[in-house]
Amino acid sequence: MARLSSNLGRTGARDPVVRWSGRQPGKKGPRAENAMATLRKIWAYLQAFRGWLALILFMVIASSVLGLLGPYLVGVAIDHFLLSADSIGLVKLLLLLAAVYVLYSVSVMLQNYWMIGVAQKTVYRMRNELFVHLHKLPVAYYISRQNGEIMSRLTNDIENVSQTLNSSFIQLFSSLLTFVGMLTLMLWLSPLLTLVTLSVVPFMYVGMKWITSRTGGYFKEQQRNLGELNGFIEETFSGQKIVKAFSQESRVTAEFIAKSKKLKASGYWSQAYSGFIPKLMNVLNNMSFSLIAGAGGIMVINGMTSIGVIVTFTEYARQFIRPLNDLANQFNTFLSAIAGAERVFQVLEAEPEEIDEQDAVSLQTLQGEIHFVNVSFAYGGEEPTLHGIDFHVKPGQTVALVGPTGAGKTTIVQLLSRFYDPKEGHIFMDGHDLTGIKRNSLRQHMGFVLQESFLFQDTIRENIRYGKLTASDEEVEQAAQLANAHSFIVKLPDGYDTVLQHDGGGISQGQKQLIAIARAFLASPSLLVLDEATSSIDTITELKIQEALYRLMEGRTSIVIAHRLNTIRRADQILVIEDGRIIERGNHQSLLAERGFYYGLYHSAEREAEAETVMGDPARI
Ligand code: ADP
Repeated sequence: MARLSSNLGRTGARDPVVRWSGRQPGKKGPRAENAMATLRKIWAYLQAFRGWLALILFMVIASSVLGLLGPYLVGVAIDHFLLSADSIGLVKLLLLLAAVYVLYSVSVMLQNYWMIGVAQKTVYRMRNELFVHLHKLPVAYYISRQNGEIMSRLTNDIENVSQTLNSSFIQLFSSLLTFVGMLTLMLWLSPLLTLVTLSVVPFMYVGMKWITSRTGGYFKEQQRNLGELNGFIEETFSGQKIVKAFSQESRVTAEFIAKSKKLKASGYWSQAYSGFIPKLMNVLNNMSFSLIAGAGGIMVINGMTSIGVIVTFTEYARQFIRPLNDLANQFNTFLSAIAGAERVFQVLEAEPEEIDEQDAVSLQTLQGEIHFVNVSFAYGGEEPTLHGIDFHVKPGQTVALVGPTGAGKTTIVQLLSRFYDPKEGHIFMDGHDLTGIKRNSLRQHMGFVLQESFLFQDTIRENIRYGKLTASDEEVEQAAQLANAHSFIVKLPDGYDTVLQHDGGGISQGQKQLIAIARAFLASPSLLVLDEATSSIDTITELKIQEALYRLMEGRTSIVIAHRLNTIRRADQILVIEDGRIIERGNHQSLLAERGFYYGLYHSAEREAEAETVMGDPARI
């Protein structure tokens, strides 16, 4: 193909997504770095529901007390009524016991119900704020992160917070209360029997330690294997076309099975070992039961305590280990949710795109005069990408940026759109320093037709209307006509109401571009930024695209990252960029006469174009 820059840029056309959205460093670990600070931030959200939280807290305390009261009343029933054969008293007490259990259930139900309400409302607010905030972040933020990672904050991490608020918060608190309450009551009833009950705790500690030391590694491995498998699945499905095109299905399947097998092995051992935990608890429970029964029996025989106390005690001992176990479990989920919340707050706290300068103006109209004055720029603190860029474009002119891949052409366009600001020098638009113009107002006057145009999963009509949301159906069709898109659209079964699949699936690459051009016609920008496609498109569509583009460029200032010789020849000004510097400038004729870099570039492109003409692709020049 007669592509000027691809002739030199031997690296070939880069992935357009990476081109505009860039580099992708690694992910963050799952642990919270500053749990207390994160908790305070969650609290800031929860504060709106202080009244409800107070009610919930009251219910948690009530349910814990009622839960402890049950076994105690059973003991009282035995000692005071059963042994003295007082049936009326016994019935009364049993009624009281029934009321206690009913109230217990009601309070548990209410606290859960209310907490779910609080959790859902909190998370609803958090999720919406996160979404709004994500749209305020500068392009640089997206460049340094994977889309999947950002999405997972909106979904997984928020869901984690939601789950924890739903249940763990309450359970953690009620387990703690129950445990402390139970221990206090047990000590009050019989310090000796409490000691007997506690004697199983060291065994429990050693047993749990033994199990977790084994499971810990396997759980981590399981998580790692799961992450690997997920990544692999995501990659193969998003690259499904490539997988099919290169007939890689069997290789991909084999790799999947290998990863799946690893997950199976780690899953097996982590589950097998952790399956020991309930068994161990059971054994210890039974052990403590026998110990209490034995020691308690001896104490009763010796008149040191009553049967009721022993019964109450065995009931407490049976439940004693549960809150301990719950505490450990809930604490883990709690920590992972805090880590999730922390990731959410990291986004919420990321600096929004710089606020417009105070005296920034809104431009009602834009002539499209551009002036770059000695502009230098570096991404981050790295080597400068642009050095001393100087050029002047009069309103309505077309400037073609040409040069090898990586020369800095896209960067110039990004500076012009104010996705970044220059490190040195100034850019003027209609005589205003770019930093003195409100970003929104600037971008309103700019239109973009990029190599890969993003289309939404919506009708063609709405996709075009995206250029100007207030446009009528007639205006949409007019724009499509100007863009040479009308004729193919009306041939589709549903015409303008054809719903495009994800990212324009269902129509060809060239047709996608025509829709993007229609969008730009509708927006009718004063300044057009065009990144010419390097991918090949069938001859007829290509001609239609070129014709539509030249029509679009008429009367507007256009900055074109140019690959087509035709476009370059027509440009009022050609800037040849290499290594972030303008090395030659002029129009086609004057640059050819210079016999410099452009001359070589042009002739090699032309030779290639001729070869293609012979091969039957004459349309490009
Ligand atoms: P061109 O459009 O001419 O192909 P670019 O303007 O995209 O070139 O890139 C110019 C240089 O800047 C290249 O070396 C590229 O690797 C680098 N670059 C582009 N975008 C980024 C970024 N977001 N962060 C760091 N370096 C970047």
